[in-house]
Amino acid sequence: MALLTALQGDHGDAADALRIDGRALSREALLGAATAVADRVAGAPALAVLARPTLETVTAVVGGLLAGVPVVPLPPDSGPKEREHILRDSGAALLAHAAGEAAPDGASVTALPVDPAERSSTTFAEPAPDATGFVLYTSGTTGAPKGAVIRRAAIAADLDALAAAWQWTAEDTLVHGLPLFHVHGLLLGVLGALRTGSRLVHTGRPTPAGYAAAGGSLYFGVPTVWSRLAADQEAAGRLSSARLLVSGSAPLPVPVFEKLAALTGHAPIERYGMTESLITVSTRADGERRPGSVGLPLEGVRTRLVGEDGEPVPYDGESVGELQVCGPTLFSGYLNRPDADAEAWTADGWFRTGDVAVIGADGFHRIVGRASVDLIKSGGYRIGAGEVEAALRDHPAVADAAVVGAPDEDLGQVIVAYVIPDGVVTEEQLTAFVAERLSVHKRPRRVVLVPELPRNALGKVLKKQLLAEAEGR
Ligand code: ATP
Ligand code: MG
Repeated sequence: MALLTALQGDHGDAADALRIDGRALSREALLGAATAVADRVAGAPALAVLARPTLETVTAVVGGLLAGVPVVPLPPDSGPKEREHILRDSGAALLAHAAGEAAPDGASVTALPVDPAERSSTTFAEPAPDATGFVLYTSGTTGAPKGAVIRRAAIAADLDALAAAWQWTAEDTLVHGLPLFHVHGLLLGVLGALRTGSRLVHTGRPTPAGYAAAGGSLYFGVPTVWSRLAADQEAAGRLSSARLLVSGSAPLPVPVFEKLAALTGHAPIERYGMTESLITVSTRADGERRPGSVGLPLEGVRTRLVGEDGEPVPYDGESVGELQVCGPTLFSGYLNRPDADAEAWTADGWFRTGDVAVIGADGFHRIVGRASVDLIKSGGYRIGAGEVEAALRDHPAVADAAVVGAPDEDLGQVIVAYVIPDGVVTEEQLTAFVAERLSVHKRPRRVVLVPELPRNALGKVLKKQLLAEAEGR
């Protein structure tokens, strides 16, 4: 089935089917404008798109997809070095940007100004399912960003499984204010709305007031968005008429889940995925929504837990292992990175997520964190950072917490906690508080009060930065 089904199909349309940066387009107008882009890019090796949250970005992305040209979203605030790396690595020949704004200077490729008011009615044949839809760069949380090659069929499989799990239809209005250079905002948000035929409202910066005013049925957000909403009783109350609140991209703290459920009357849905495997696991719209759990694998996706020596880990709700994934939503490999591919795939064709998880006998998944930073080995124990963070967040005067394992000669690693206070609390009080909740080996050696945690554009805590700071102390 064509990737952009609803866009090309004979569905109802609205003048504001797509509302973004204060402007609106109907699906028909978007198709016409995107086709004008497709006319100009057909045959190019790849199309980079300077992905600001604008109509132009969506027009350019859809244009590339219509023409069967791999689309490479470029973070708009990337510095010249990162931009050049992505342009060269992806082999992009063209860089789309809004016609109204200056082309990024110094880029080594041809600038392609995009104007959503243009129209063309050329028809393009649907590219093969195995053709590359996107080269999507990972967030670079654990190293340099890697270009994940994503087939059109993987996107379609993902969006269909998702639409089924969340009962997402043309009746919905999706609201989000996420960046458009990443899986969450672009592939799931924009393409999901275009494929299901639902309306899309992009709020720009995802503020509580913006979400409250948007009047949607389905809302996407990263945990920071939800945590701000949970702190704004008035705005949260106005989401009670929504159908689903969905959190992804990073772990949703249990207190935020609970507060949001209480204020809006909707327990949020949590999903887990990554650039390489768009969505892997998610709570179902009609299933149980359990705080701290991301739910079950999507239709067609298989997961397994593997121990350090490759042995299977039991699904007992306690034992941790690396989460591995197999199925139609997986990417096809990293661009120009045979080393990363060799590390990422098992001999029997499963993808190593690099994340540590726990699976219960009922199949519910809990993501503990990243094997490289969130699995702390101290004095022979393996401790999930998330458990310590959750204990700290239980304190009424803690707004958020992140822990890392700092190197230690004696124990291998010791736990260092970074805490954002919400009110008056001392490091000693927090140490005493967790001592009542955690066994000795799980207690932080040091608690550091900080005004903010370092985060990337999607709200992921940059633990490498915290680790460097912990090592420097
Ligand atoms: P890089 O691979 O370059 O280090 P990255 O892994 O942060 O960067 P993404 O693909 O954007 O890049 O992020 C995927 C990761 O985000 C997952 O592997 C997981 O660690 C984390 N993640 C996503 N959703 C959730 C969730 N619901 N709960 C916990 N972690 C999540
Ligand atoms: Mg990753």
